[in-house]
Amino acid sequence: MNAIQSRQIHIDGVVQGVGFRPFVYSLAQRYALCGWVRNTSAGVDIVVEGPNAALDAFVAALSAEAPPLAKIDAVQVNDMPANGYTDFEIVHSADSPDAFMPISADVSLCDDCLRELRDPSDRRYRYPFINCTNCGPRFTIIKAIPYDRPLTTMADFPMCEDCAREYHDPLDRRFHAQPVACPSCGPQVWLVEGDQAAPLQADQAVRRTVDLLKAGQVVAIKGLGGFHLACDARATEAVRRLRQRKRRFDKPLALMLRDVDAARKLVLINDDEEALLTSRQRPIVLLNTRPEADIAPEVAPGQTTLGIMLPYTPLHVLLFEDQGEDEPLILVMTSGNRSEEPIVTTNEDALSQLGDIADAFLLHDRDIHVRCDDAVVRWAIDAELPIRRSRGYAPYPVQLPLDQPPTLAVGAELKNTFCVTRDRYAFLSHHIGDMENLETLQSFRDGIAHFESLFRIKPRLIAADLHPDYAATRYAIERAQQEGIALRQIQHHHAHIAACLAEHGHPGDRPVIGVAWDGTGYGKDGSMWGGEFMLVDYQSFTRKAHIKSLPLPGGDAAVRRPARAAFAWLLASEIDIPERLSLLKILSEEEQRIIRQQVQIGLNSPLTSSIGRLFDVIAALVGLRHEITYEGQAAIELEGIAWAGDHGAYPLRSAAQIDVRPLLQWVLQDSLDGVPAGLISARFHRGLALLIRDSCLALRLSYGLDEVALSGGVFQNVTLLRQAVSLLREAGFTVYTHRLVPPNDGGLALGQAVIAAAQERADA
Ligand code: ZN
Ligand code: ZN
Ligand code: FE
Repeated sequence: MNAIQSRQIHIDGVVQGVGFRPFVYSLAQRYALCGWVRNTSAGVDIVVEGPNAALDAFVAALSAEAPPLAKIDAVQVNDMPANGYTDFEIVHSADSPDAFMPISADVSLCDDCLRELRDPSDRRYRYPFINCTNCGPRFTIIKAIPYDRPLTTMADFPMCEDCAREYHDPLDRRFHAQPVACPSCGPQVWLVEGDQAAPLQADQAVRRTVDLLKAGQVVAIKGLGGFHLACDARATEAVRRLRQRKRRFDKPLALMLRDVDAARKLVLINDDEEALLTSRQRPIVLLNTRPEADIAPEVAPGQTTLGIMLPYTPLHVLLFEDQGEDEPLILVMTSGNRSEEPIVTTNEDALSQLGDIADAFLLHDRDIHVRCDDAVVRWAIDAELPIRRSRGYAPYPVQLPLDQPPTLAVGAELKNTFCVTRDRYAFLSHHIGDMENLETLQSFRDGIAHFESLFRIKPRLIAADLHPDYAATRYAIERAQQEGIALRQIQHHHAHIAACLAEHGHPGDRPVIGVAWDGTGYGKDGSMWGGEFMLVDYQSFTRKAHIKSLPLPGGDAAVRRPARAAFAWLLASEIDIPERLSLLKILSEEEQRIIRQQVQIGLNSPLTSSIGRLFDVIAALVGLRHEITYEGQAAIELEGIAWAGDHGAYPLRSAAQIDVRPLLQWVLQDSLDGVPAGLISARFHRGLALLIRDSCLALRLSYGLDEVALSGGVFQNVTLLRQAVSLLREAGFTVYTHRLVPPNDGGLALGQAVIAAAQERADA
C-alpha cells in the first residue's frame, strides 16, 4: 500500500504571469495529487500530497514541462508531514515586504492568439489587444509588484463577464493573464488624421492606416514600448520625407515585414538568424542585404545590412493581413522620437512632438508605463550578439556567479543602460539612450526609481564611470552624497571586460586577458583609451599594452569628421601627405593650418588610443567616409565593404605601445595606388585580428594566462570578432564574447556593478 507523503516546493525565477499556477494545477490533476499552489512575491510555493512515485513524477515534470515563458532558476523540495488535503487548489498570493522576483519581459503574440485573431468566429477576431498567459505586454505595463492587474495599466479596463470567466478558470489559457481583454471591455485603437472631426475607430482605423501607408504617408503607430514612425519602405519619397522631418540623415531605419518569406526577398537569412527573427523577443536582426533587394536606398544608405523585425503585437499583424502575395507590404518602423530624444509613449506627446513628422496617428488607450525601444541583435559565431538589449529582453536578469550587495550601476553616456543588483541577480535596464538632453536624463532617473521599487532594492553601493563629464556619473556622485551611499568610480574598459566575464558566470577571482576596444573611455591617465590589452579580475586591472596614443585635434570635431583625425594622424606619424590624397579636398586650407598647429603644440588636441578612431581614420584614408552623422558610422561602413576571404593583412606588431605608423603608410599607399577600398578593409580587419592573437600570445608567455575576454563597441563588428575568436581558439585560448549584454556601452553597467561589489568586498 502506498503511504501518503507530502512535499513542500519553492520555485525561484520568472514564474508569475506566465501561466505557471495553472500548469501546476493541471500537473496535480494528472498525478491525482492534493495540496495547493500560490504566488509569493519571491516565486511560487507548492504543497503536494500523494504516493511517493507520483510526487517524484510531479517534481520532475515541474521543470521538464514548464510553460514556455517560465524561467526556472531554482527548485527547492522538502519533505513534510502530510496534512490530509482532499483536493488541489490555487490559493491567494502571499506578499512579504522584502521579497522580490524577476519580472517577465514583453512577449510577442503567441500562435494560439494568432489563430484566434484570424478566426472570424472568435470573439477576439481582429482585436488588436488579444493576449494570453503565453504572450502579450508585461514589463511595459507594470507599475508595481506583485504583478497583478490593479497594479498595471490594465487597471482602467474592468473585465467583462466572458473575460473574467477565462481569467478565473485554472484550465483556461487566460487564467490570471493580467492584460486579458476583448473588444467589449478592453483597450481600443483609433486613427487621428488631419483635422478630421471624428477619428476612425477599431478595425476601420487599422484598415485606413494601411491605405495611408500605401499612399506614401508617414503614420505614427503606438506600439508596445513606445511609438513607431512608419512608412512604405519602397516609397522613396516617403522615406526621404520621414528622414528630413525627423532630422535623421544616414542612420539606418529598421523594417518590419510580414514573415520570414517576405524578409528573404530582401536579405540573406540562415537558420540561426531565422530563429532570432521568429523568437518570442522579436528583436531587430541585422541581416546581409541582397543586392537585388527592392527597397528605397534611403532606408539604409551606405549599409550592407538591413535591420529587420517581424510583427510582434496583434496590431502589427493586422497591418500585414490581406496583403497581396507578390507585393507584400514592407514598412519602415523607426522609433517615434525627435532626433536624439527618448521614444514617445503617450498619445499627447505623440500628437505634440511628432506632429510635424507624422501625417496621421494610430493611437490606443492602453498606457505604456515603461518606455522600451526595440532590441537589436546580430548573429555572431555560435550565439546571438546583442547590439541593443531592450524590449523582449529587459528586465530579465543576468545571473551572477556571486552574491551581490544591493548595488546601482549607472552606466555610460552613450547608449546608456543602468543596472541594479541583489543576491545573484543583475537587472540590466532597457535602453535609455544618449544622455545628452534633459528628456533622456529624466527617463534615466525615472527608470532607476522604477527598478529600485520593482525589485525592492535600496542601493548600499553606487558604481559609475570615471569620466567626470558623464551625466550618469554626476547623478551618481550627487546621489551618493545626498543619501550617504558608498560610491565607486570604475574605469571604463575594466567595466567592459568585467561585463563580459560576468555574463559568462566567471568568478572573476583570477586575472584574464581583457581586450577592450571601443570608441572612447576615460583612462586612468586622463587620456582617452580604447585600444587596450589588460589583465583583469573583478577587483582590479593593469594596462599591459595599447595603441600608441595619437592626437584628436578639436576633440569631438575630429570624431564627427574622420578626415580631421586622419590628417592629424598622418601628421603626428610624420608620414608625407601627397597632394592628391582625397581627404585634403575635404579640409579647407584654413582647417589644415589649424590642425597642423594643434598637432604641433598639442592644443585642444586630446590623445587617444582608440581603435574606434583608427577605424575612422582608415575609412577617411580610403575615401569612404570623411564626415559622420551618427556614432560608429565610419566603422560600420568600413566593415560593410570588407571583401570576404583571405587577402593578406596589414602589419600591426604587438608591443606595449602598438605603433600604427606602418599600417597608415600601407593603407595610404594602397589607396593612392587604386587598390579597392573593400580589399584594403579586408587586410585591415585581418591585421587587427592577428594583432589580437599576437598580443594575447605575448601576454600568455609573460603571465601564463589562457583566458581572453573581448569587449567594447568595436566587437559589434562580427567580421573582426569572428576572425579574432577563431585565431584565439586555434592558439588554444578560452575566449569569452558577449551573448547576453551588448559589447558596447549598453552593457557597461553590468561590469561596473560586479567590480564595485568586488572592491567593496576586498576592502571590508
Ligand atoms: Zn497568446
Ligand atoms: Zn472582455
Ligand atoms: Fe565603451
